[in-house]
Amino acid sequence: MQTTRPIVVVGAGLPGGAIARELAARGETVLLVDRQEPGRGTSYGNMASIAVNGFDAASRPSTWKKLPFWMINPDAPVTADPLYAPRMIPWFLRFLAAGRPQRIREIEDAGATLATRALGDIRGLLAAIGAPDLLSEATCLQLYETERAFAEGRDNLALMDRYGLDYDVLEGPAIRAHEPLLSPAIAKAVLLPQNHFITDPFRFVGRMVADMQRRGGTSLTGVVARIEHDLRGVSAVLLSDGRRIETDRLVLAAGMETATFARALGEPIPLETERGYHTQIMPPGGTDLRYSLIWPERAFMVTPTAGGIRVGGSVEMAGLARAPNWRRARLLVEHAKFALPSLKVENVSEWMGHRPALPDTIPVLSASARTRGVFYATGHGHLGLTYSATTGIVMADLVTGRPPAVDLTPFRIDRF
Ligand SMILES: Cc1cc2nc3c(=O)[nH]c(=O)nc-3n(C[C@H](O)[C@H](O)[C@H](O)COP(=O)(O)OP(=O)(O)OC[C@H]3O[C@@H](n4cnc5c(N)ncnc54)[C@H](O)[C@@H]3O)c2cc1C
Repeated sequence: MQTTRPIVVVGAGLPGGAIARELAARGETVLLVDRQEPGRGTSYGNMASIAVNGFDAASRPSTWKKLPFWMINPDAPVTADPLYAPRMIPWFLRFLAAGRPQRIREIEDAGATLATRALGDIRGLLAAIGAPDLLSEATCLQLYETERAFAEGRDNLALMDRYGLDYDVLEGPAIRAHEPLLSPAIAKAVLLPQNHFITDPFRFVGRMVADMQRRGGTSLTGVVARIEHDLRGVSAVLLSDGRRIETDRLVLAAGMETATFARALGEPIPLETERGYHTQIMPPGGTDLRYSLIWPERAFMVTPTAGGIRVGGSVEMAGLARAPNWRRARLLVEHAKFALPSLKVENVSEWMGHRPALPDTIPVLSASARTRGVFYATGHGHLGLTYSATTGIVMADLVTGRPPAVDLTPFRIDRF
């Protein structure tokens, strides 16, 4: 009997869910495979922000200046486990190379092609899946405790100027007029009118998958263990329980695990986990925040999401295996209490996730350079929610052979 072989998408996170849904919406037969419930990976616990101004190159000079302080202070916003750090040397050397002025400009140009359309694409996706309610009306305030911190953060404003993003600088009473809950200790704030947030990122993935299913796609629980391929290209994926799924188009959107598949396919990618934490504060502890808050100097956010208030962020370079260091999550809550003195921390849960991060900040959105029919979507780092809908569109373009909606040259897998 002749059957249509599905396009297999591995990984039901925000990017994978959006890709599978978009392919189904274009009439393709799609099978979305995940080892756990869709949206339970890193996409579950992120800070829910559509951070359209967040595409600065991580390797920019202002990062380098702070690095010595971060490396000796275990409570710094960015830390590396001394036992793990030697394994990161190859990644770090590439990070160093991504710090050249010309390369920084290229990285930010590439990020801007995704970020400047991200909100529009997310609105379009939410409308298509019947979930516009998942987009907040509220936007975001970026906080600075001192004039000096604001001056040091000017490169983000310069980035927004360069790419035409709107913002408004507030100070003194104007800050409290916008967000009365904020401490008077905050000297300056930047209003980011495009940085809406999602009222529950886990539900966002669930709604994408439900829409994909309504359009004939299938969601399957299973661990992808191996990819079969030969000179003609990909032919099947094998699950750990022995199931074999024949396919001639495979999208690898498995977050950190994508690196394992890429290595097996002979095209390794330098993916590292930037571990991050959140504390979800549920009623009655939460506060009626009008905005989501981001505090770049302390690398954390506060977002009203998932039925409460979520406090999270932090970057910890310590690999996939090491147990969470919950002290980092608690430190963020202390920062949040400083910014929001009325915050009551009672009914809480803590979470850690793995941001899949490439040393040059931008994701891989690419056809394989070696195996026909294989495509990669990973390395979304701090912006996997922000870039989710756009990733869905451009990857569906690639997989179906349409000219991509944005130039994907900077996102090729063979750039490393
Ligand atoms: C603390 C924190 C805050 C963040 N805040 C924001 C934010 O405000 N805005 C923003 O845009 N981004 C944010 N991010 C980043 C964002 O969450 C990530 O970029 C995004 O979730 C990555 O999605 P992913 O699908 O690549 O990975 P994941 O969500 O981890 O999904 C990968 C999926 O692949 C599956 N998988 C892996 N291996 C296999 C296998 N062998 N077989 C089957 N399935 C497999 C996993 O089960 C998982 O579900 C934040 C991240 C963190 C940690």
